[in-house]
Amino acid sequence: MLHTIPNATIKRLALYRRCFIELYDKGIKRVQSGELSQRIGVDSATIRRDFSYLGELGRQGYGYEVRTVLEAFNNLLKTEETQHAVIIGIGNLGRALLNYFSSDKFNDLIFKTPVDLIAAFDIKESLVGQQIGNLEVHHLSGLKAYIEKHQITYVILTVPPAAAQKVANSLEGLGIKGILNLSSTVINVAEDIRVHEVDLNMELETLFFYVLQKEQGKK
Ligand code: ATP
Repeated sequence: MLHTIPNATIKRLALYRRCFIELYDKGIKRVQSGELSQRIGVDSATIRRDFSYLGELGRQGYGYEVRTVLEAFNNLLKTEETQHAVIIGIGNLGRALLNYFSSDKFNDLIFKTPVDLIAAFDIKESLVGQQIGNLEVHHLSGLKAYIEKHQITYVILTVPPAAAQKVANSLEGLGIKGILNLSSTVINVAEDIRVHEVDLNMELETLFFYVLQKEQGKK
């Protein structure tokens, strides 16, 4: 079903799901697209169009039943079996992510995504064998064998920029489907691997540009 949904909508699905989880937690049973729009900063027409791709979830004037929408999202997420992921590069960022994803809240069914982080890799001998969060750090030399044995399909990349491309290339041809690239540099890999870039420093700079644009518009 996802293959018929435009990319721009796909980009907003996780945001919608998180918003509906919050509504559900607050005991809110129904929500209008106008109200959703205020909460997440996406205009109502876009929300209505995005939701139309997910099936008959709302009615004009009635809004969306929170439980029904959450079930639709959870069905989408459940269509795939749980995917296994590893994280490579356990510096400051990798360590923070390992601790973050070890939080109990990700065991909560409602927060659970189909991607499970199961191991960490680094080249630093002093890190190998350490337990960070609830995962063990392995040496990079064992990566290929580990990927094959545990059917790893996703990778979170937190190596330094200078190492990123080489590590990414080493992942080709092993059945990896997606790389979440937090290595602060662009990587190029074979087309069968989807790369999603996240650069927190760039996000902060983008925020700065938006604020500057707004401020200059007022002058
Ligand atoms: P950051 O805050 O970005 O995590 P850092 O200063 O803590 O940076 P980096 O030098 O960016 O550390 O390295 C991140 C981690 O990646 C380190 O633990 C380093 O040993 C590891 N690393 C470096 N090269 C490789 C590689 N080729 N494969 C796997 N891990 C690597």
